[in-house]
Amino acid sequence: MNYNLVLEEIQKEIQPLLKVGKVADYIPALKNVKKEQFVMCLHLLDGTTYTIGNVENKFSIQSISKVFTFTKALEIYGKELYKNVGHEPSGNAFNSLVQLEHENGIPRNPFINAGAIVITDLLRSAYKNNSFDKILDFIQEIADNKNISYDKEVYCSELESGYRNFALINMMKSFNNISNNVDDVIETYFKHCSISMSTRELSRAMLFLANQGTDPLTKKVFVSSSKAKRINALMLTCGHYDASGDFAFHVGLPGKSGVGGGIVAIIPNLMSICVYSPGLNAQGNSLVGTKALELFTSKTGLSIF
Ligand code: GLN
Repeated sequence: MNYNLVLEEIQKEIQPLLKVGKVADYIPALKNVKKEQFVMCLHLLDGTTYTIGNVENKFSIQSISKVFTFTKALEIYGKELYKNVGHEPSGNAFNSLVQLEHENGIPRNPFINAGAIVITDLLRSAYKNNSFDKILDFIQEIADNKNISYDKEVYCSELESGYRNFALINMMKSFNNISNNVDDVIETYFKHCSISMSTRELSRAMLFLANQGTDPLTKKVFVSSSKAKRINALMLTCGHYDASGDFAFHVGLPGKSGVGGGIVAIIPNLMSICVYSPGLNAQGNSLVGTKALELFTSKTGLSIF
């Protein structure tokens, strides 16, 4: 397969869409990100990469961090974790409060904000005060890269303006689904959302999910194959909030987006992919990123179906 040619074709075809999306201006620090960017990196299991655009450029990973925190929490708590968070798609916006009250403060899944905040609370229970350092250590280990860190400006911006996330955590606390101090948990949550990584680094970090939970390069086992299957299944069904069905329909791969404009996607036993383009669609997923992945699976015939 001539992946370079496929990437070049995709880059040409997405050009008219680069102006269409809207950057995540509800986070003030992300308001001025240049919209017309397109970067894509394919990472094969043997470490070979195929790239287009500036794959070293770092961006805010935002909700893609939820894949890492869920992976760690699943490793620590196993099935017990599903007492606090479900594994069903929500059909609602990523920051919605509506369903949460109806369902007694138990979020539908670990990839919507409420669910990821519960996961952060569980990690705080396990790690106490150095929970963010432990989360960052884990991401550095999974990415095999010690140079990954968070962006303080993005972190402070979310802390100052994240009223909805405060509402979500307080509502869950009222239902006894948050064990720790709400400020401590939300600070850890905002810190992991504000981690910066490049397209190359993110696609590298996701290789373990394309290889049944084991890093194919370092051979480190991060989760069992059975847990890797669950993580991929949740990415397929819940990774794009209320556009998860649409993403599965058009792309046909497990994937996870973040409002920073990144999307990661997994082709089991073959590769992990990261695409970056900060203009978002109405559901908060990269508009061009989604289209690029659809074009990729259509042109190559590579999908899980
Ligand atoms: N930090 C963002 C928030 O809490 C993450 C949302 C996202 O990427 N979908 O709103």
